[in-house]
Amino acid sequence: MKIKKKIYHYWTFQVWNLEKWEKVFSSINKEKRIINAKNHSAWHLLSTAIKNIGLKEVNPEKGFHFPDWCYVECNWTLEGYKEEILKNLNTELQNLISKKLNIEVDNSNSLSRRVIFEGYEWIGCWWTHVKNISEIWKIEVTKIKVKKWRSKFSYKIL
Ligand SMILES: [Zn+2]
Repeated sequence: MKIKKKIYHYWTFQVWNLEKWEKVFSSINKEKRIINAKNHSAWHLLSTAIKNIGLKEVNPEKGFHFPDWCYVECNWTLEGYKEEILKNLNTELQNLISKKLNIEVDNSNSLSRRVIFEGYEWIGCWWTHVKNISEIWKIEVTKIKVKKWRSKFSYKIL
């Protein structure tokens, strides 16, 4: 969390006993972080593509983006023509990536963090993102699963 130009990291200590002012060292796994940023940014991109292909009534609500398991879940039941929607989504995703949209992060408000995909409305989000959507290079929606008023769009970064 970034507050007043300082970045705070929070952990829950379960085993370690630290003394006050004891130095600790931490590091970020750069490779893993880049994959997470791509997978998470792709989640936003797919949510946008779902709207862009005309599924306006669909509201992407949640999802997961682990390295080998990513999806967007919507509060909506898809009826028929899954193959056509899958094809249209993949075409729209590549179209969006080819536009090389910048992603800006606005940290000026300590209570909400705004993420702005160039040309789109801001989204409140605390996750990590790529700086330009072209860094994703290629994303593919692999499966659409429909169950009880919910639709799940699985995807992967290629
Ligand atoms: Zn985000």
